[in-house]
Amino acid sequence: MNCSCGGTMKDTKEIYPAKWGEYQVDIKGVKAYRCDACGKLLYEPEEINLLLNLTVLLSGLSKEKRPKVIDFEKFRSSQLID
Ligand SMILES: [Zn+2]
Repeated sequence: MNCSCGGTMKDTKEIYPAKWGEYQVDIKGVKAYRCDACGKLLYEPEEINLLLNLTVLLSGLSKEKRPKVIDFEKFRSSQLID
């Protein structure tokens, strides 16, 4: 996979700052690609869909129970998302 600048996009794991209403959560371990030439970052669209579903789900919890940070790798295959 190549970047529009001609550099190579490399697999990486990033923190995605998700938001739903007033709920904000940092999601760690999200699959992404980073250009080794210009530094451009692209998240994997399927990952974003999953983590947005998760964010909406968690936003329904009471305020004290909502996590501020999530390790997405633990949630990726979890039934919580379905
Ligand atoms: Zn680039």
